[in-house]
Amino acid sequence: MKNTTKAFLFLIPIASFLFISSKPLEPKKINIVIDASHGGNDYGVISNSITEKQIVEQVTNKIKSLNSNVVIHLTRSDDTFLSYEERTDFINKLKPDLVLSLHVNSSLNNKTSGLEFYVAKETEFFEKSNEIAQRLHDKFSKDTNLKLSGIKTGPFYILKRSEVPAVIVELGYLTNENDKKYLIDDKEQNKIAKSISEFISEMK
Ligand SMILES: [Zn+2]
Repeated sequence: MKNTTKAFLFLIPIASFLFISSKPLEPKKINIVIDASHGGNDYGVISNSITEKQIVEQVTNKIKSLNSNVVIHLTRSDDTFLSYEERTDFINKLKPDLVLSLHVNSSLNNKTSGLEFYVAKETEFFEKSNEIAQRLHDKFSKDTNLKLSGIKTGPFYILKRSEVPAVIVELGYLTNENDKKYLIDDKEQNKIAKSISEFISEMK
């Protein structure tokens, strides 16, 4: 082999190395866990034959089916019961950028209505969760005419034990007739899913 060829072959690995190292870094993919609460024998709030577990499962699957530029992971996509520990184990192994846990509310007062957001003070992710909850609240206030009750705090297991920012979204009150109407309406569920999908798509 000629010396020039040898030199050329020697340069190939260097050239490929330079090529690889000069390649721009892929932007980091955002990972989001959407947690459909309850499931299986745990129905959550029940009003006649309408159940919380079913509403949150429907909305969750709608979010998953929408195209977003984030990676969406679901704790459950069917009618399976998962304990709080199983949910947080899944979350803490995955270490997503955010957990949104979806619920439906109930009250003894049938006039109580609207969306609510919960974060837990008992975690180092309180501030970050609170900031995200505020932005999600603002997103819903632009997208819907639904009543919004601001950000609340509560020592909920999934919020306290998730080692990442986490927000509970109470989508409305099944005990309020108006809320119930939109919660079970396919088009309204699509709108909720769209708002959440757009919100997580804009996350950095
Ligand atoms: Zn619930």
